[in-house]
Amino acid sequence: AAPVIAIDGPSASGKGTVAGRVAQALGYAYLDSGALYRLTALAAKQAGVDWADESSVAKLAAVLDVEFSGNDIRLNGTLVGDAIRTEEMSAGASKVAALPAVREALLFRQRAFNTLPGLVGDGRDMGSVIFPKAPLKVFLTASAEARAERRYKQLIEKGFSANLPDLLADLQQRDARDSQRSVAPLRQEADARLLDTTHLTIEQAVNQVLAWSRE
Ligand code: C5P
Repeated sequence: AAPVIAIDGPSASGKGTVAGRVAQALGYAYLDSGALYRLTALAAKQAGVDWADESSVAKLAAVLDVEFSGNDIRLNGTLVGDAIRTEEMSAGASKVAALPAVREALLFRQRAFNTLPGLVGDGRDMGSVIFPKAPLKVFLTASAEARAERRYKQLIEKGFSANLPDLLADLQQRDARDSQRSVAPLRQEADARLLDTTHLTIEQAVNQVLAWSRE
């Protein structure tokens, strides 16, 4: 199998940006696994399916018609853009992601991204469940305050309205749900390297991962 760099960590830690740039630098494919959970939440909402209805949401996840091309994501042929990046879909993704049948339905779809010359996978369980044999596993994190500030800036840049205390509370609630769930809880694997980006620039974080990948 092609080499995998597994990058896991909490919401808004900068994983997506770092993983995307590492992939670009190495010419590897990039898997944004969080997008699959966000798309599942969006598809459920569009179909009028409750996020707590495990078997119905899992059925939608299994047949999710999604196409990734560059930065564009299409659901049922339609560009989704920022519709999956709202706080509502962040919460929905974290709810559907706690359902074992949904995770099962998305398992092989994620493994299929592992093509030559390699893959950078970004998520919560890349190193623990999806690519347990990945030669490099990184647990990328930052303080909750730093993450809330980054999310705030992102939302404002995209033209959404946002409020920092609410974002921090949402983030902490999501962290708690992601780390306390019974399936694939978010945690640092024993063989994962810790990268705390609280005081790092994106460039410094990218360079650290690239340095590890060359070891
Ligand atoms: O990374 P992102 O914020 O886009 O992920 C959205 C949600 O999807 C997370 O809060 C988490 O609950 C879930 N997720 C997951 N496993 C992954 C990726 C994301 O449970 N591999």
